Order: sequence, then C-alpha cells, then structure tokens
Amino acid sequence: MDKILVIDDSPVQAEFLSSILRPSYDLTACHTAEEGLRTAKEGGFSLILLDVVMPGMDGFTLLQELKGTELTRYIPVILLTSLSDVQYEEKGLLMGAVDYVTKPFSPVIIKARVNTHIQLYHYQMQFRKQAMIDELTGVANRRRYEEESIARWREAVRFELPFSICMFDIDKFKMYNDAFGHPAGDKVISAVARTVSSYFHRSTDLFARYGGEEFVAIFVGSEGEAAFEFLKTVRQAVEDLHLQHCATVSPWVTISVGGVTVIPAQGDSYKACLQQADAMLYDAKRLGRNQVVWLGEKREQWTER
Ligand code: GH3
Ligand code: MG
Ligand code: MG
Repeated sequence: MDKILVIDDSPVQAEFLSSILRPSYDLTACHTAEEGLRTAKEGGFSLILLDVVMPGMDGFTLLQELKGTELTRYIPVILLTSLSDVQYEEKGLLMGAVDYVTKPFSPVIIKARVNTHIQLYHYQMQFRKQAMIDELTGVANRRRYEEESIARWREAVRFELPFSICMFDIDKFKMYNDAFGHPAGDKVISAVARTVSSYFHRSTDLFARYGGEEFVAIFVGSEGEAAFEFLKTVRQAVEDLHLQHCATVSPWVTISVGGVTVIPAQGDSYKACLQQADAMLYDAKRLGRNQVVWLGEKREQWTER
C-alpha cells in the first residue's frame, strides 16, 4: 500500500483528509513543517499533501527543502490551500509542487488527484530506474555512476572514511571480438559484469559499466592493503570463469585492475583520484595484464607480480 504524508498544522484538517484517503493508502500526519521534513526523509512516501499556511516554517520553505534534498526531491507534493490563498498556488506550482487542492476539500476530487499523482510517481520511478541500468549487463550504467560517485565522495570526506576507486578492463578484448565475433563478446562482457558485481553487494558499494569493456567500482571503509587483497580475489574469480580466449596471458578471459585508496580531506579532488586509478590500470596493462595494481593511502604501490 502506498504511503502518503499529510503535513497540516490543523489536526482536524489532517484527520479529515486522512479519513478520506485511509481505505486506499497508508497515512502519516505531521503538524509542523519541521516534523514533516524529518518524517519525509525517513523515506517510503509516494506523495506529500502539504498545507501552505502554517506557523513557524511555512509550506513554501518546506517545499523548497524537499525539492533541494536528494532523498525527497522526487516525491510529488500537492499543496493544500484555502480559497483566499489563490495567489499562492502559482508560486507553489513554480516551486515544483505537482498540483494543489483547495479547502474545503471535495473528497472525490482529492481522491482522484491523489490517485493520478501516485500513478505518475510510479511511472517516473520505473523510468528513472531503467534509465540508470546498463542494458547489456543489468549493472548500473555510466549515468548512475556519474550521479552517485560525487555524492559518495562527499560522504567519505564528511566521515573521513577510506575511499577506494577501482577501474577494470578486459584484456585483449579486441582480439576476442575478432576471433569469436561481437555477440560472443557481448556475452563475455555480461559474464564479467555479473561476476565482478557479485562482490560489490554492500549498500555503500557502487559498481558500474564505465563504457565498452571497462567497469568502475567505488567503495568505502577498506584500507588500501585490504582493498588490494580483495580485488585480487575478484580478478581471480573472473579468470576462474574459464571463458576461452586466444590472446591473453592465460588461456582464459582475464581482466586488469587498477585502483586507489585515499582518506579524502576537504578540498581534495575526486577527479584526481579517478585519474590515479586509471594510471594504476595502465600500469597493470604495462606489467603484463591479468593483475591488480593498487595505490594505498600512504602513496605506496602494490603490484601482484
Ligand atoms: P587491452 O588489453 O589493452 O585492454 O586490449 P583491448 O583489445 O581490450 O583494448 P581496446 O580498448 O583497444 O579494445 C577494446 C575493445 O572492446 C574494442 C571493442 O571492439 C570492444 N568492445 C567495446 N564495447 C563492446 C561491446 O559492447 N561489445 C563487444 N562485443 N565488444 C566491445
Ligand atoms: Mg579498454
Ligand atoms: Mg581492454
């Protein structure tokens, strides 16, 4: 059942609204904007019904907060206004509210509008989800990586967590395509993605297809040496798939891996860190492929062979 958050300083109004919608939805009521914001951030709401005129923080300020917060920005907000507040409707809609309803409420109109916006919300979420997934492999795509990586980086800065970026590249893949054909190559890309992604299952991990036969992972909490050991296991798991190849250092399809662990400080650049990971990948290729090269937080470099 979809969850709806009602934010109205009048308990009577909130209860009336809830009673109209309750049979079909799971209602939560808050009576101040501050409490509403806190509750909205807890997540899981498909719609917010927001009273404009409230003492303390008003509906507009709250709307602005909701739209500016990653956790809540996609939740549709319907404004509740009284007839005398018509001039507010324009302002609210321009600020990102999807609709408004005028007090006193018509139960039929409220229900119809709520149903419509919840349906649209589900379509939008489904669309957003699909737009973030790589079609061939089913893992996160480049767009999702671009959207999330910077946010993860900022979090690591705030909590002073070790942060690792890792680049993966299938070895001599052009030769694979030339020997076995492009469709067979696609299957290899999928198999490698499936295997590697199965190692990145924590909620704070992000594994994505970076492009072509290249992947990227970011994760927090591991120190450099542990990250290096972990990636050696991942690299070995790909080799152990025993996907036949004709032109690598092993008879099987292999990957080269380059990564870096840093404890990021305020002002450090994510881009510079990514470039270091890329340089480590380049070293892994140069040193003979099918190996991991890692740069630790004290700038020490580990190589496998
Ligand atoms: P290296 O070990 O240096 O990485 O050699 P490589 O041949 O893998 O390097 P290169 O980057 O030159 O070639 C990558 C190849 O990956 C080229 C391209 O044909 C292939 N490729 C990129 N995207 C796809 C894809 O979606 N499907 C398939 N089948 N092949 C792809
Ligand atoms: Mg490549
Ligand atoms: Mg390659």
